[in-house]
Amino acid sequence: MAEAILAIDIGGTKLAAGVVTPLGEIVSSAQSPTPNREHADTVYAALQETIQRALLSAGGGWSVASIGVGVGGPMRVREGLVSPLNIPGWRDFPIVARLRADHGLPVALDNDAKAFALGEYLYGADRDHSDLMGVVVSTGVGGGIVSHGRLLHGRTFNAGHVGHMVAEPDGPGCICGGRGCVEAIASGPSIARLIRSQLRQGRESILANSAPESLTARQVAEAARAGDELAREGFDRAGRALGVGFAGAAALLDIDLIVLGGGVSNAGDLLMQPLRAALAEHARLDYIRDQVEVVPTTNPQHAGLIGAAALAAQEQYHP
Ligand SMILES: [Zn+2]
Repeated sequence: MAEAILAIDIGGTKLAAGVVTPLGEIVSSAQSPTPNREHADTVYAALQETIQRALLSAGGGWSVASIGVGVGGPMRVREGLVSPLNIPGWRDFPIVARLRADHGLPVALDNDAKAFALGEYLYGADRDHSDLMGVVVSTGVGGGIVSHGRLLHGRTFNAGHVGHMVAEPDGPGCICGGRGCVEAIASGPSIARLIRSQLRQGRESILANSAPESLTARQVAEAARAGDELAREGFDRAGRALGVGFAGAAALLDIDLIVLGGGVSNAGDLLMQPLRAALAEHARLDYIRDQVEVVPTTNPQHAGLIGAAALAAQEQYHP
């Protein structure tokens, strides 16, 4: 039987599990909605049910040797305790101890955006880059850094929070308590929120006809493609914020590749054009000017599971 990794990707809306080969190929996967308003054990039971479905559909040819888990932060990696902001039932939830007890396997845990970055390094399309950043633009803006082929952890395992680099010092307030963070401008909910406040001030837009309280970044993207000026400004501002943040990160980290994932990055050129323009404008030092490529992930559907698998693979197969 060939060895495989059980990959687990835990998000605020979706739980995913998959059996993944040490080369990053998906053998099977399953997902279910996160019962994110429920008690800790209800969430864990839903996760176990998802895991069982993934294991069953992988068939009998695989021997799972380790588990990799990507979760939204914050967390205490060393203690194996997670408190994802968008799963209120899990506060200091001992995910590592629970999975180890239930499956009898070693468990590698980290932030889902750091996992995404490591997955792109180990298994992504651009594997000739040893220094890269992975960024997930979704409900928040998360990131992870691979430096010289190793995931950068920082003192408290929180390195890579590119979403809280400041892009507009006088910009909108951020969930972290700061102001003008990349996430406060470029996350999906932030794009929608900034458009809503313009609509309330009477800006004309085809979005004025839709229910403003349920406005999503996806609707804003559709309106922008239909030529709506306000919607296009929203993506320009989001792309610029990301580009400014990326220029700072590139200068600091000496990287030449940034891989984007997450639902908001599906907006494609609407986001990429202003992003690349701001990056070119602000990344001026010799070693980064015209050197930093920004590309979308090649496997948006399974990027989370591949990242989780990479966490286990790096410990087990590339220590
Ligand atoms: Zn912030």
